[in-house]
Parts: sequence; C-alpha cells; structure tokens
Amino acid sequence: MDEQKSARKHHSLRVSSEMDEKQYLQEYLTDTEYLAGCRDIKINIANVGTSSTADQAMKEEKSRNDNNNVFNIYESSLSRRQMDTLIAVSDAFLPSVDVSDLTADESLLKFYATSASMAATPQRLGGMISERLKHPKKWLLKVALWALSTWFGTFVMCGIASVSTTFPYFHSFPNLSHQRRQEILNSWSQSYFFLLRLLYWSLKLLTFLVFFTQVDSKDHNVSWKAIGYTGPDPDFKVQNTTTAATTKLDEQQQQQQEILFGPLSSGIVDFKTLPHDLTLINTLKRHGFPVKRRRPCTSILPQERSTHNNKVPSSIFDPFLKIRCDAVVVGSGSGGGVVAGLLARAGYKVLVLEKGNYYARNNLTLLEGPTLDQMYLSNGLMATADMDVLLLAGSTVGGGSTINWSASIPTPQHVRKEWCDEYELELFGSKLYEEALDVVCKRMQVQSEIEEEGFNNAVLRKGCEELGYPVDNIPRNAPSDHYCGWCCLGCKDGRKKGTSETWLLDLVESGNGVILPGSEAVKVLHQRKSGRERNTATGVAFEFENSKGDKEICVVESRVTVVACGALRTPTLLKRSGLRNPNIGKNLHLHPVAMAWGYFPDNSSSFLAEKKSYEGGIMTAMSTVAADLKKSGYGTVIQTPALHPGMFSILMPWVSGKDMKDRMRRFSRTAHVFALARDQGSGTVNSDSEIRYSVEARDEEKLRAGVEKVLRILAAAGAEEIGTHHGKGKSINVKSASYHELERFVKEESGREMRGLRWPICSAHQMGSCRMGVAAATSAVNPMGETWEVEGLFVADTSVFPTALGVNPMVTVQAIAYCTALSVLQLLKRKKIKTTYI
Ligand SMILES: Cc1cc2nc3c(=O)[nH]c(=O)nc-3n(C[C@H](O)[C@H](O)[C@H](O)COP(=O)(O)OP(=O)(O)OC[C@H]3O[C@@H](n4cnc5c(N)ncnc54)[C@H](O)[C@@H]3O)c2cc1C
Repeated sequence: MDEQKSARKHHSLRVSSEMDEKQYLQEYLTDTEYLAGCRDIKINIANVGTSSTADQAMKEEKSRNDNNNVFNIYESSLSRRQMDTLIAVSDAFLPSVDVSDLTADESLLKFYATSASMAATPQRLGGMISERLKHPKKWLLKVALWALSTWFGTFVMCGIASVSTTFPYFHSFPNLSHQRRQEILNSWSQSYFFLLRLLYWSLKLLTFLVFFTQVDSKDHNVSWKAIGYTGPDPDFKVQNTTTAATTKLDEQQQQQQEILFGPLSSGIVDFKTLPHDLTLINTLKRHGFPVKRRRPCTSILPQERSTHNNKVPSSIFDPFLKIRCDAVVVGSGSGGGVVAGLLARAGYKVLVLEKGNYYARNNLTLLEGPTLDQMYLSNGLMATADMDVLLLAGSTVGGGSTINWSASIPTPQHVRKEWCDEYELELFGSKLYEEALDVVCKRMQVQSEIEEEGFNNAVLRKGCEELGYPVDNIPRNAPSDHYCGWCCLGCKDGRKKGTSETWLLDLVESGNGVILPGSEAVKVLHQRKSGRERNTATGVAFEFENSKGDKEICVVESRVTVVACGALRTPTLLKRSGLRNPNIGKNLHLHPVAMAWGYFPDNSSSFLAEKKSYEGGIMTAMSTVAADLKKSGYGTVIQTPALHPGMFSILMPWVSGKDMKDRMRRFSRTAHVFALARDQGSGTVNSDSEIRYSVEARDEEKLRAGVEKVLRILAAAGAEEIGTHHGKGKSINVKSASYHELERFVKEESGREMRGLRWPICSAHQMGSCRMGVAAATSAVNPMGETWEVEGLFVADTSVFPTALGVNPMVTVQAIAYCTALSVLQLLKRKKIKTTYI
C-alpha cells in the first residue's frame, strides 16, 4: 500500500534536469534499475557524477558482458546538442503519464510514470545511433538531431508549431512544451515531405526498440511486468539453473564448457577465444586441415619480430594463415549448412566460414535486445535505403535457420511449374528436385501436427473457420508439442531442427569439417588457369578478430568455393571479388509483409484461455484465401508473426504517449496476423548497407487485399478491438460497432496507402539477388548453381531463386542447395587431390 502511495507521488514527476533524473532513479526505480540508469548517465552525460555503487554496477555489468558475451554496451559519440534533442524526442514519444485516477498494481503505475529519459533510454539510444546503426541515411538523422537543437532548424522542420506569442517567440525542439512536441511528431508521421516521415519513423523505431528491450543487470525491463511479458522463457531459466547447479567445474573450465557446450562444440574453431596462435594452428591441424603460418619478416631484427608481426597488418598477399581444404563454404545458414554437411559426409574436407558468432544452447540469452544485436544481420537494425521495408535476417552459426519461425513449407507446385516452364529450369520439374525436397524435410524432421496452438495462430484459425476461409496446418521442423515462442531468439533445447541441429551436425560428426565463427569472407579468390576460358575459383580471403581484438586476414585455398551468405550479402561479396555479371545484386525480392492486430481481453474467449501473444509455436496455421492460387499465384499468404515487446512497439502506431502506453499495456493479449506478398517488384543490393527496394503499386494492392482478409479474420475470431499498423492508428471496437460501421472500417483501413513510410512494412525473406537461369545474360548462376563467370564458384542460398517464392523459403533453399551440393560433388570427383603443406 505504501509502495502504491509512493508510486502515485511520482506520477506527475517530470525530468527537467539531470539532478531530477538521478533523484528519480534513486527514489523510484529498483536497485538494479537504479544502478543501470546511473551507469548510462555516467557513460553518456558529461558533468554528472556517479556514486561508487554505480561504478561498481558498471564494472560488474561490464565484466558480466565480457565473460558471458551477453550484450554490448555502446557508447554515444553524439554531441551534447544532439543528445538534448534525443532526450526531448524520446520523452515526447514516451512521456511520464499521470494516471492518478487509475487503480492498478504497482508495476503498471510505474510503467505509466516512467518516461524514456527516466529509464535512461536516450543515452542508450545515443550509443545505438553512434555505433550500432549502419544505415546509409544515418548522417541525415544526426544532422536533424543537431538542427532541432537550434531555433532556426526547429522552425524550418516544425514550422509555426515551434513559434510562441511570447518572447523569445522562436524555440528549439527541446524547449517546446511536451504537448507541442507530441503534435509535431504526429504531424511528421503523415507529413507531405518524405524526409520528415523518414525522420519520424527512424526516431520512433529506435526509441521504442531501446525502451522495450533494454535490461538492467538482472535482465529486467521497467515495462515488462506491466505489459504482461515474462522476459526470457521461464523454462529456459530453469534449464540453465539446473545445468549450472549440476556442473561441478572450476570457473575457467565452466566458461570454456559454456562456450563450447552444444551439439557443434567439437567442430567449432573460434579464433577469438583460442588464446594462442599455436593453439589455433594445432586445432586446425588436428582436424586434418593443412595450415601454413605467416613468416616473420626477415628484413628486421629477430628481437623485433614479434612486435613487427603485431604492427604490420596481415593482408590477402601476406595472410596470417593459409589453410587448405577441399571445399570452403561461406555462410552456415539454411543453404550453406546443407552443402557443408553433404560434402563432409561424402568424405571431403570442408571449412565453413561464418561471419556471426556461435551461441550454444545455454549461451543464449533469449532476450530480444541482445539477440537482435548479436544474432541478426547488421545487429538487427537493417532497412532498405528509404526505410520503406524493415529487414530481418539471421547472422550466427546456422544463419536464418537458428532464429527463424520454423515454418517448413515445400516449394509450391505452381512455383515449380513456373520456374520449369517459363524460366526453362528443368531441375524444378525433375525427380531429383522431388528427392531433394524429401531428403531435406526428413533431415529436419518436418511434421504437420500441433498439440496446442499458440495465441496468434489460434486466432487466425478460429477467424478462418468462422468465415469459411481455407486454413491449413503449417509443416514445421519442430515436434508437435513444441510450444515455445522464443525460437526467434534461438532454440533453447535444440528441438527446432535448424542447420546447427542437422546439417552442420553431420559435418562435425563426419570428422571432416569445422566451422569458423566470427570469420567474415572479404573476397573470393580466382585466377585464369591455362587452357581455360574463364577464371577458376581458388579459395577465399577472410577476416577475423583475434583474442587481443586485432583484425587478421587469412586465406583458404580450396578446390571448390561455395558462397551462401544469404541474398543480402552474397551479391556484395561476389562484386567485391571482381565478378561483373550485371544480374548480381539485381532482382531482389523481399516478400513484403503488412500486419493488422486484434485485442482480446483476458478471458474474452475460452479458446484463448490463459494464452499470451508471445507464447506457443510461432507459425502453425496459414490461410491461402488471398493467395490467388487459381490465377497468377502472385497474391498473399496469411500467417502470424513472433512479436516480443521491442518489435511489437516499433510496429504499433503511435498517436500520443498515453495512447501508446495503453496499447502496450494490452501487449500480451493483442494478436497479430499478417499478409505476405509474393512480390513482382524487385530491388537491388548495392552494398552491405545500401539495399534499394520500393514496394511496387501492384504489390501494395496485394497487401491491401490481404490485410482486408486479416481484419475480417480478427473480427470473426472475437477480437474486441481491431486495427492496422497504418500511422494514423485508427481502430474500431468490434463489439459495439454495427455491421455497416465494421464494413466501412475494414474497407477504409485496408485501402490506405502503405508505401512511403505510411505503414511499416517488414521482410524476413530475401531472395533472387543472384538468380539462377539458363543464360548469363539473364541470370547470375547456371542451373547447377555455379556462377557463369568463375568455374568452381557456386552459390547456394536464397539469392539463386528465379522469382519470389510466395511461401517461407527455408525448405526451398535447402532443396536447391542439396542439388547444388550434388553438382559440387561431381566437380570434386573430377579434380585431382592436391598436396598438403609440409
Ligand atoms: C525472423 C525470421 C523468421 C523466419 N522464419 C522463417 C520460417 O518460419 N520459415 C522459413 O522457411 N523461413 C523463415 N525465415 C527465412 C529463412 O530463415 C531464410 O530465408 C533462410 O535462412 C535463408 O537461407 P540462406 O542460406 O539464404 O541465408 P542465411 O540462412 O541467412 O545464412 C547466411 C549466413 O551467411 C553469413 N554471412 C553473410 N555474409 C558473410 C560473409 N561475408 N562471410 C561469412 N559469413 C557470412 C550470415 O551471417 C548468415 O549466417 C525467417 C527469417 C527470419 C529473419
């Protein structure tokens, strides 16, 4: 009761100065929240002292992060002016809200009372913008933050809303009232000017992502209890506690065990954790890979050699190590994993290079923020150049298959027919491809039963059944009782059969292969051999960071090179390596996704009982009601996402701080269903950070048709309120609306403009950027998966898809990779065995 009183006392607390912020932290937040907040203040705000306890907390957390690799703390390099704007913006999005009229538990009151700056979100945000964000438009964001800290910049960007009738008349953004700042943000969201919409969208995305994913040293977030989120899977916590309790190892052994624990442990060679170069070399040799070490420079004195080697960076011409193997596979994801496993099982020595790190089961955090940062490409902050589409892709051992949603759908017949008839790729009509589909599904233990359906899928199924729409079980690479919900953050028990539980396991168990995490291929090496009309691949140069934090370059000499970096990175690697085929990087398809939501209050429907929006099998039901299967096959499929608080908050429309907190409060009972378009429009991959793609009008039309069905499904399933992600944030109370009101709402909202940042569009499927074809003029690789330009250089990932697929791509990419692996095997059989290093 006292606590509640104390909470109420602070409802209307506003942070007006740094001292207020510290005071708030001290009085209101829990000890760990307080210490974490102090840490951020210390890191980021100059001239604010911190207590010794805060120093201690920082040290502890830093050491915890260093030891466990839990999450990175990014330091802000933004100027004081930029930080002032960031604080003002994030507090406008997430203010402290007075809810003194509300009778609620303490956690809820605290959630409403806490503004973004009270939780030190702007400071983390500053670090994220400075170090983690790599988008090509980042400079614009920084300029805007600076401009908004001046009255003239604010006037240019905010117009009359920044002017008052009293002296000094013109104000900078941080000096405007809270009400004015909210109004300005709202006007930007629907502004006529694209750049203002871009600014709004990027600031909203970053603020909410940080606020709802940031954790203190006890892995708590100030909002989670209030919004009904448990944080990491409770079963996972139990699993890890049990492991720790039963493992009697000294600290160092345990750490080593933790790093290596997991099915792949004996085949992981982590350059970062191996303490000495010799250990590294011996480990590789022990696995049967001939290795040659860089020679110390002979032109300098012997006593200076070690310093010299430290100072002169290794290069492709003078690599730190040369490693020899039969096949090098770049990328350990869905495609790369299959090729690596098959070649190793056939007896060839295979080296797998993986840019991302390895997270064994009990090394996972199952925390959304750290996982996005560590296991997703571009630290989970990736979007097309105009931010039209938010992109998600895995970057860890196992690639996308480690963090994906387990849907395992075979290539649809109509797509196979199109690829075979229109693109003349006979492979897709062949018995071999049929066999490939069977083999990969068997290896992943794909099955279609579900024992208990999760919240979102139960809603989708119920809505479809009520309306008479088709609804099918989605085959999954997980058992029927796999009721999880956290698999998008890594699978805690290995029951989801991604490549690290299947094909990469085959590689390791064969004794013929190793995986090198943290190793990024920088160039494919190739040269003209006598009597050849085109170059032949000779291997790959890759970069890694050693245990001292220095970057080193190594060269792998291989008989065959397979690139499987995913559709966003394979084109850039090939282009960097000198390949000139104009199709490389073009024809990128993204399967754009648009969502709608429905709110189901607690106990509103018996079929949802105690379920929560983020629990259960992520994808178990799907409808093809808008798939246009009888005509072109270019429609949308309707499925459900996994949305933990960070992603949920990014996508939900914002109209005011109070409204947003109300929406978040209903997080655990808000279902999401999406329409995924088989896109005919395409984009280009220009560089690692510049991906150009705009949703075409015809694809937007498909999404609208899909969203219309989704809204109907949500209403039919019994939602009390429904809405979409369109920036206007309109919703309707289904229970009190008349039939006509509901019809009008569905038509109006699904007919809204989506493109140009009006409606957040997402993509978790990227494909087609090095497409397969029968001629070099129209494709990047031939039907065997080999590049037209370089012999012995194969591509085995989704970039080879001739068009968009229309369903989840994992099974298709694995089946194609299976066929490509057979072609690679034939080539290897033809090539002579090379001598090893002495
Ligand atoms: C959140 C999410 C959910 C998804 N859910 C599903 C689903 O339920 N069903 C489904 O079928 N599909 C799903 N997908 C998509 C599916 O996972 C991908 O389409 C598939 O994994 C792509 O396979 P790939 O081999 O092309 O690339 P990836 O699996 O992405 O693997 C590429 C790997 O290459 C590495 N790499 C990149 N560049 C380099 C380099 N230069 N050097 C070394 N390594 C490099 C990357 O780090 C990455 O690990 C999902 C994807 C996401 C992101």
